[in-house]
Amino acid sequence: MSWRVRVDTGLCIGSGMCVGTAPDRFAFDADQHSRPVSEVTGEEEAVRDAAASCPVEAISLTDAETGAPVALD
Ligand code: SF4
Repeated sequence: MSWRVRVDTGLCIGSGMCVGTAPDRFAFDADQHSRPVSEVTGEEEAVRDAAASCPVEAISLTDAETGAPVALD
């Protein structure tokens, strides 16, 4: 199974938690908003941890095939 990763840039405050937690999977854009490096990833705990660590819950993970939300805990 793979996950689809989205960052709501309207919510992102640029705290950098996700970039620090999963630097291979998240990077800042020119506006200091985080973006997923790849929209679809494998099931990676670092990606889940990054989503769970976001202070404004800007990161969503869904099953890439079904669209079902991925639990963050
Ligand atoms: S943890 Fe959340 S607020 Fe911080 S950079 Fe990542 S998406 Fe933005």
